[in-house]
Amino acid sequence: MVKVERSFPAPESLAEEAKKVGGRYDKQDVIDRLKKDFHNKCYICGLKELQDPNVEHLLPHKNGQYPERKFDWENLFWACGHCNGVKNKGIYDKGILDCCKQDPEKYLHFCVQNNDVVVDVADSDNEMLERTASLINETFSLKNTGMRTYTCDERLRLLQKEMNLLYKQLEKMHKNPDSKVVMRTIRSLLRRESSFAAFKRCYVRQHAVKYPELQKYVALDT
Ligand SMILES: [Zn+2]
Repeated sequence: MVKVERSFPAPESLAEEAKKVGGRYDKQDVIDRLKKDFHNKCYICGLKELQDPNVEHLLPHKNGQYPERKFDWENLFWACGHCNGVKNKGIYDKGILDCCKQDPEKYLHFCVQNNDVVVDVADSDNEMLERTASLINETFSLKNTGMRTYTCDERLRLLQKEMNLLYKQLEKMHKNPDSKVVMRTIRSLLRRESSFAAFKRCYVRQHAVKYPELQKYVALDT
């Protein structure tokens, strides 16, 4: 999960649809804008180029029990179907971090260890942050159905593949510190727009002594 710059004003259809009985929050303008603003990445797991994107409500509208949430542009997020499903639990209805308003990298650590994803809260006992970390962990580990075992494993496999790309380029940089091509590739791998960016950026930040020249590419949002 990384910081996302949401664009304004809200897509026009939202105000129109809010007036209708059975109005929709997923008209073309909303889809186009979310896809662009979120760089076609699931805001929860970080997977890119989604094939099954969902318009996700940060705070649920519960089939119209909270109509003000249903068409609120700032409550609409771009998520993969897997993460939308994992998040559909009472515990997460209390709210998770809003990555359009706060930089998740300031509050959470993202780590891949062996065959495990570990996301934890940097230094606080803030319940909202704990819920956010728990949700991201679950999107890689909640194997309560056959399909979820597959979709979790698939995310972990793609995350490890992306981390290996980074490790390989860091190794190349170590051997050839003046290569502009390598540096450009690393910069691109560390952009917030890239797949699983939070994990790669956190790795570089945690190895600041080894990679001082890369710290400017993983700076936190101010
Ligand atoms: Zn996802």
